[in-house]
Amino acid sequence: MQNIDSYNFKGKKAFVRVDFNVPLDENANITDDTRIVAALPTLKKILADGGRLIIASHLGRPEKNPDPKYSLKQILPHVSQLLGVDVKFAPDCAHAQSEVAALKDGEALMLENLRFYAEEEGKPRGEFTDDDEKAAAKKAMKESQKEFTKTLASYADCYVNDAFGTAHRAHASTALIAAFFPNDKMFGYLMEKEVIAVEKVMSNIERPFTAIMGGSKVSTKIEIIENLLTKVDNLIITGGMTYTFTKATGGKIGDSICENDKLDLALELIEKAKKNGVNLVLAVDAKIADSFSNDAKTAFVDVDKIPDGWEGMDIGPESEKLFAEVIKSSKTILWNGPTGVFEFENFTHGTRAVGEAVVEATKNGAFSLVGGGDSVAAVNKFGIANGVSYVSTGGGALLEAIQGITLPGIAAIKE
Ligand code: AMP
Repeated sequence: MQNIDSYNFKGKKAFVRVDFNVPLDENANITDDTRIVAALPTLKKILADGGRLIIASHLGRPEKNPDPKYSLKQILPHVSQLLGVDVKFAPDCAHAQSEVAALKDGEALMLENLRFYAEEEGKPRGEFTDDDEKAAAKKAMKESQKEFTKTLASYADCYVNDAFGTAHRAHASTALIAAFFPNDKMFGYLMEKEVIAVEKVMSNIERPFTAIMGGSKVSTKIEIIENLLTKVDNLIITGGMTYTFTKATGGKIGDSICENDKLDLALELIEKAKKNGVNLVLAVDAKIADSFSNDAKTAFVDVDKIPDGWEGMDIGPESEKLFAEVIKSSKTILWNGPTGVFEFENFTHGTRAVGEAVVEATKNGAFSLVGGGDSVAAVNKFGIANGVSYVSTGGGALLEAIQGITLPGIAAIKE
């Protein structure tokens, strides 16, 4: 494994896997460019050395090739502007030989969305009539993924992985490709920072350790919640997940989002928290709305007394106070997910209050790690990113790393 800082890229073609999976609005404007900005130090170092930069990323979840909605060409002008060079474009990532060959020292090229090819993820696309057909497709895919990876590797002299957001995936460009560069593979600056931040949280936990888990569904976060219950002192479960817990314990949740098949699970988690001596903190009140819209009629009620026809959209003032007290008494904080539907301006208050409490705790010496697309969007929206210790660009990757799972993207570089 090499070190990006001491590696000299002069005259070298560098394949850099970044995570430019940025949110776009309906007019293809980037609504949050955090992930691009975060990769700039790596890209600029390569260009400054006189390297030949090949930028590779995915965008969204395309189902076909090409899929214009997910074309990386849409973000090319912004990337060029941020990098300060005219970035060239290869419209087919698997047939970019001529564009790569035309690259000169200090020039940059961006490949079209890697996920236009199913080989990037290695999952065959389409419907299968039976298991045999599926197994055959999987086998064929394994072979074509090898070829795809080989092609990507053939473009370059060295490989840099700066895509923490996809480090938990063993994809062609995030992990498999590293094997082609046994002596010329390395982390980018962003990846290095992410790895250090995770190590800090996991190896050197100053207590109390509080995790704030928000978001819509228990089912997508169950593993991390179970894992956190063996590590934290306080676990704040918030966002849409709240109402599954409220209903499980006999509360009235009206039309709030709820996973009815996870009620038993919610009770088990409550029991597990008790057994482990973890202070499980749930909302006590809610800001409710009579429809799922920013302009809905609203009211504040106890979280377990939500009338029919109304739904919980954010936490209420009592919960804000409760959460803030716990957060401010913490020395290590992990925050993932909003307290409510923060995309609607009228339901941002709780998420903002949590953010402000995290900032205050950080001021008082706590180490705070914020991760996950929505939490990052929230801290940016509220202008408090500078007030927390570390904002991770990873969502799933961060959560897996925090659970102690070895991320394929990291292992492939370290091996
Ligand atoms: P996740 O993708 O699981 O991290 O969840 C993030 C999403 O949860 C955001 O888009 C929020 O709008 C949504 N969310 C948070 N609270 C609620 C709620 N009370 N009802 C419905 N959705 C919610």
